Amino acid sequence: MKTFDLIVVGGGPAGSTAAYFAAKAGLTVLMLEKDRDIGMPVRCGEATSEAGLRQFFEPEPSWIASTIHKISMQSPGGTKITFESKHKGFVLHRRIFDYQLANYAAKAGAEILTKAYVYDVIMENDTVVGVKYEHLGKKFEVRSKVVIAADGVESRVGRMAGMRTALKLGDADSCFQYTVSNIDIDEEIIQFYLGKKIAPGGYLWVFPKGNGQANIGLGVNGFDSKNIKAIDLLNKFMQEQYPKASPLTSVCGLVPVSHTLKKIVSNGIMLTGDAARMVNPVTGGGIIAGMHGGKLAALTAVEAIAKNDVSAQNLKPYEDKWDKAAGTNHRRLYRIANALATLEDDDFNKIAVSLEKYPAEELSLLKIFTQFAMIRPKVLIDVTKAYIGF
Ligand SMILES: Cc1cc2nc3c(=O)[nH]c(=O)nc-3n(C[C@H](O)[C@H](O)[C@H](O)COP(=O)(O)OP(=O)(O)OC[C@H]3O[C@@H](n4cnc5c(N)ncnc54)[C@H](O)[C@@H]3O)c2cc1C
Repeated sequence: MKTFDLIVVGGGPAGSTAAYFAAKAGLTVLMLEKDRDIGMPVRCGEATSEAGLRQFFEPEPSWIASTIHKISMQSPGGTKITFESKHKGFVLHRRIFDYQLANYAAKAGAEILTKAYVYDVIMENDTVVGVKYEHLGKKFEVRSKVVIAADGVESRVGRMAGMRTALKLGDADSCFQYTVSNIDIDEEIIQFYLGKKIAPGGYLWVFPKGNGQANIGLGVNGFDSKNIKAIDLLNKFMQEQYPKASPLTSVCGLVPVSHTLKKIVSNGIMLTGDAARMVNPVTGGGIIAGMHGGKLAALTAVEAIAKNDVSAQNLKPYEDKWDKAAGTNHRRLYRIANALATLEDDDFNKIAVSLEKYPAEELSLLKIFTQFAMIRPKVLIDVTKAYIGF
């Protein structure tokens, strides 16, 4: 039986980033991905920030579908505010992006196997010492010093290791998205439509992908939406706004909108990315957060393996580093998201109308959320801390 220093489960942005940084630091790494192709199927709006990506890799032109300079938000009453984004954004081609991240990991020395479904972990003395996986109808066992579970929102690997990973209904948004062609939109603006009428507990997004294409999707909160389906609300919007658009793909998926799990390490194992709920609970964005988590997990594995101690106690610095990097902020954003969910459509309209009077150059996310905090003053401190710097 082959053994590795590190096994990474899942070949999304979090897994590939972990595999890349661990292999680059000299660990022997195996990354197992259940799907046939890395990066497929794409279940993502694909929007991200240039500065976020640059922390890890130099963005390549082939990943980038469109470059975003402006943000627009529309209230249920139809008031639209548009302003320059402080940071340049991208809408990615994730099928190319994810593939390329895995390529970087492979070039750094990681072994990658697709169509490899991890169905259990190997435990010895209360410590994860490897995984069991199925590949092309055959079952295999492979051992490692550390396992990083980057197996996405539906993560099961943490649970297999006895960790508490359950996601509450109210902490998940259920989403449906079309990638459409034949629409006429401004290529440098990402658009959000807010309000209970549009998307209860969530929002609707229009992210341009260049060449008359866009990702148009809608998320509804699991708790708020009751019997309302994201697909029905999205179809209604499409008929009203883009009746001539042709859907090229459609996807549904869950977005965890909780804060990060309390415990993301156990003996011999770390969780990262969506599996650890490392998603911005206000936006649902998890690409950069997952890459951040993946890198921190990999570097922690490198240190723990060098000390020959992969106990939960020795992997705990990963939790602390994540908290400092983003975890604490995600807890603030979680409180903000919960307060946002209590807004009625009238509140959204009032906020939009109060902002309408400002010239575009005076608008920012901080300003928008400050107006929101006027309605829900208990989040003022969280808003100030979370959005200063945006
Ligand atoms: C509709 C929708 C729109 C979104 N839009 C955005 C957006 O615009 N911007 C943004 O930043 N984020 C967005 N997100 C969130 C973003 O897609 C995720 O946060 C991000 O993909 C998380 O990366 P990850 O590597 O943790 O998980 P994933 O990308 O989900 O990768 C996990 C991988 O693990 C594999 N896997 C799972 N189980 C196993 C197993 N047992 N064995 C082997 N392999 C396994 C899966 O096949 C998958 O490839 C969106 C999500 C959805 C659903």
